[in-house]
Amino acid sequence: MNKTHINIIDNLADGNGLSKEEWMCLLTSLDFEERQYLHDKAVAVAKEHYGNGVFVRALIEISSYCKNNCYYCGIRCSNTNAQRYRLSKEEILNCCGVAASFGFNTFVLQGGEDPKQTPEWIVDVVKSIRDLYPDKAITLSVGECTEEAYKAFKDAGANRFLLRHETRNDAHYSHLHPSNMSAKNRRECLFTLKKLGFQTGSGMMIGSPGQTDEHLYEDIKFLEELNPHMIGIGPFVPASNTPFEKESRGSVEKTILMLSLLRLRFPKVLLPATTALATLCQDGMERAILAGANVVMPNVSPLEQRKKYSIYDNKKSTGAESAQQLSQLEQRLNAIGYHIDYTRGDYKY
Ligand code: SAH
Repeated sequence: MNKTHINIIDNLADGNGLSKEEWMCLLTSLDFEERQYLHDKAVAVAKEHYGNGVFVRALIEISSYCKNNCYYCGIRCSNTNAQRYRLSKEEILNCCGVAASFGFNTFVLQGGEDPKQTPEWIVDVVKSIRDLYPDKAITLSVGECTEEAYKAFKDAGANRFLLRHETRNDAHYSHLHPSNMSAKNRRECLFTLKKLGFQTGSGMMIGSPGQTDEHLYEDIKFLEELNPHMIGIGPFVPASNTPFEKESRGSVEKTILMLSLLRLRFPKVLLPATTALATLCQDGMERAILAGANVVMPNVSPLEQRKKYSIYDNKKSTGAESAQQLSQLEQRLNAIGYHIDYTRGDYKY
């Protein structure tokens, strides 16, 4: 192992700031053994703060309608091949009921930016969940909204919000999105969410078309500025019938490298092993956890709709529609020395 490389990793693990050159070195130049050294350090840090537990979140995909036209996403509005559905409030409450009966303490409501699921409607759904489950965490991931809407979600009882910044580089953002979407607005949304007191999650795809290592460096710098409570990263996976359908997928190795770098830079961050990673790699979940991830988000959406939330091809479903599937998850975690932590899993301030 190269002494300089190990020194940089140790510095990062000790909480020291790194120069751009040092970051670029970590992003581009670690060999297999050095990466293993990095992953082990990241796992030690995750365990120091969160032990051997992996938090579970019940993921409910509430709508596959979206008014946006992101070039990478399978449910972009101009994809006429996409199958569309939206859950009713009753269906969402039903999903929450199933999830609660399995012991979940966090519900995540994620969806496209569906004009029919207005802020008022979302407020009503959140209030109903909050009335039924006063102690559980409610996470929303419904895209860019006004500050008033975000505040109304918070007042209704939502605790957390996931909104990936996607890329900090404005030119790269324009490469991934049509011109009516702005990187700046997305960043402003994130700072607003934090200001309103949400536990806030950001993140980006790894290996999205046009992404360079410099961009990843800029992403890390942005995350330092935002200092989010959660960071969601997963490889880009091509989606049929999108402008990027023929682009290459993101790298599993790079995703796992980034997970460890983020764990060391943000020791207490909640870091999911994402579905996108599990889609590209059978043992993606295990590899993510053994690189410092500490959250998984089993899908509890109604089975008949699940395949329609197709943001990319062959999207895997780490489902939890039966107690049996959760015990399989428990077994997989046990096999690598972990267990499911059913508590809310709030950020440790
Ligand atoms: N509408 C919500 C939820 C979007 S889906 C929002 O805007 O926040 C959640 C995430 O999936 C997106 O932020 C994006 O980073 C990721 N995603 C979308 N298409 C993808 C693809 N083809 N491959 C990998 N990840 C993708």
